[in-house]
Amino acid sequence: QSGAKGEQMKIAMIGTGYVGLVSGVCFSDFGHDVICVDKNPDKITQLEQGIVPIYEPGLEELMVKNVTAGRLSFSGDLAAAVAGADAVFIAVGTPTRRGDGHADLTYVMAAAEEIAQALTGYAVVVTKSTVPLGTNRQVKQVIHKANPKAEFDVASNPEFLREGAAIDDFMHPDRVVVGVQNDRAAEVMNDIYRPLSLRDFPVMMTDLESAEMIKYAANAFLATKITFINEIAALCERVGADVKMVSKGMGMDGRIGDKFLHAGPGYGGSCFPKDTKALARIGQDHAMPMQLTETVIKVNDEVKRRMIDKVVDICGGNVNGKTIAVLGVTFKPNTDDMRDAPSLTIIPALVGGGAKVRVVDPQGRREGEALLPGVNWSEDAYKAAQNADAIVILTEWNEFRALDLKRLAKRMNAPTMADLRNIYAPKDVKRAGFTAYVSIGRAGFG
Ligand code: NAD
Repeated sequence: QSGAKGEQMKIAMIGTGYVGLVSGVCFSDFGHDVICVDKNPDKITQLEQGIVPIYEPGLEELMVKNVTAGRLSFSGDLAAAVAGADAVFIAVGTPTRRGDGHADLTYVMAAAEEIAQALTGYAVVVTKSTVPLGTNRQVKQVIHKANPKAEFDVASNPEFLREGAAIDDFMHPDRVVVGVQNDRAAEVMNDIYRPLSLRDFPVMMTDLESAEMIKYAANAFLATKITFINEIAALCERVGADVKMVSKGMGMDGRIGDKFLHAGPGYGGSCFPKDTKALARIGQDHAMPMQLTETVIKVNDEVKRRMIDKVVDICGGNVNGKTIAVLGVTFKPNTDDMRDAPSLTIIPALVGGGAKVRVVDPQGRREGEALLPGVNWSEDAYKAAQNADAIVILTEWNEFRALDLKRLAKRMNAPTMADLRNIYAPKDVKRAGFTAYVSIGRAGFG
């Protein structure tokens, strides 16, 4: 138990995805009494057996530790979990609504209605899901309408954890943001996060709207930063500059910072694409177009498309009949999350162009198989490279960072590489026997 001595809070966590499960497990590690609920019975069955349904480093150990300590349990019964809880967290998905870019609030509102029926005494209903401006007020109305007698407050507590480093991010946050409407709710939230504030991690109290806005503004800003360097990378290629040097030199400026300044195949994942679209939509809805964010969305689509051109170029202008080994399909390393991964744009284009695509990913296969029809899955990079005409590095998993390049080149039909994460140095690739190499924003050869 990492929490300092404090009051143990009773928490219900609705949704056991990347955010809900990590938050629930970490809250129990703070010393709170947590029940995690999901409407997917398979997930609950697995969790009850001590199996984590997603890939997130360190999560299983921490989960088992807190289940054993009797502070953490799982249930499909929302009402039982909510009864008597001090706080009920909504951590369900808010994907992009089909057609208009708006965040789909169906799951949030369905959870709110169910919670309303199950509230027994005073509780704070906390929205952890990323939700548009005004959603927390809407949650309040939905609960009040479904159960006019319910005694409750709402709170907005957006989550900033990164998949792949989720536990560390949750336990050592740059800040926790909490939006509330009164002191009573603030007190409950402060009690829940006391183990963090006692260790000097800032818990910032604000109003509902500002909390909702902080999450979208932060994600749109980070997506902008990535897209900015991706655009600079494209210009570097034209003018003969090296984007790795450029981003290093920029990042040393404390006002800029070196994080989220690595050129690559375009941002993807479960948050940036949908949250930038949702922010753009919020702007339109309020007659205040988010012009920068709208441009970022457009430029990022172009960045992803440019990656297809790079692969086609290295295959001599046509991928038809070529065998291409793709290393990495998840949107970043250390996760199995495939949502909006750049691979989902790039690989279908190669398959569509007539290429035989072999794919390797340490964790992506379970999700990726259904999403990437027409590819063959290989066990490792060397098997995938056998007689291949090109290698494409799409995700910088550690095991792709130190490949035996000579061994790879030897077994390829045409030793060429598109390194879309800039993990190799052109001179090393050349020395290993590759005949052509492209990367992002710097000179290649061949
Ligand atoms: P997810 O899809 O992995 O998990 C959502 C879970 O909620 C699913 O297991 C689903 O079965 C369950 N669920 C849906 N409706 C339910 C209901 N009525 N009752 C019980 N369970 C229900 O989603 P996620 O990636 O954890 O994201 C959740 C939210 O957190 C989103 O709004 C997302 O934008 C936000 N967020 C995600 C991340 C991230 O890195 N994934 C980071 C910060 C914020």
